[in-house]
Amino acid sequence: MALTVANSLQVEQVDWDQLDTILLDMDGTLLDLAFDNHFWGKVIPERWGHLNGLDLPSSQQHLAPIFAREQGKLNWYCLDFWGQTLGLDIASIKTTCTDGIQWRPQAETFLRRLRASHLDVVLITNAHPVTLDIKAERLPLAKWFDKMVSSHRYGAPKETPLFWEQLIAERPFNPHRTLFVDDSEHVLDSAQTFGISHLITLRQPDSSLPPRTNTRYPSIHHFEEIMQGLPTID
Ligand SMILES: [Mg+2]
Repeated sequence: MALTVANSLQVEQVDWDQLDTILLDMDGTLLDLAFDNHFWGKVIPERWGHLNGLDLPSSQQHLAPIFAREQGKLNWYCLDFWGQTLGLDIASIKTTCTDGIQWRPQAETFLRRLRASHLDVVLITNAHPVTLDIKAERLPLAKWFDKMVSSHRYGAPKETPLFWEQLIAERPFNPHRTLFVDDSEHVLDSAQTFGISHLITLRQPDSSLPPRTNTRYPSIHHFEEIMQGLPTID
């Protein structure tokens, strides 16, 4: 086993020699989820409320069940769906507030060391391709990855078997020699069902919220907890 689990499911160590591939989520894993939570929790309700004559709390209250219905589905991540549903140009609103798009602590160091390693480094995200473009324009994302995949191209989010079947067909990997890091435990459930052996989640996907104390998967706070054994860089 590459991972050994200590108390409260903290990751003790990753044996990188036992791995060929690392799959990395974007939002809440490499990037601070505070941006997305602020955007969907405040910016969009504010704009939508403005259009519909509602103040922010009323707009948030009205939109909450509409958002909840789509969680875990591809629509949840789809700018076109929300554009049509809410009557807003989501992409152009997003481009006005890109300052909040930030790396999580140590994410770039982790990626630099992964880049120098033997591993195939693959970004797999449910983010819409337009969101991915906006984020990759704001931060130098693409240079760290051997491949970047948006689940929208497969028409299936990471929560579904169809995503994994298409990923492994497009970018073959050995599930027993693959580590997948994602802040969503529902997504990790789906990866586990598919057969990926090494799964890690994050304790603090959103820097504006307290760290999670109960995770069902081995969890890290910062990447330094698992960086030992990766090539060092100057
Ligand atoms: Mg995520």
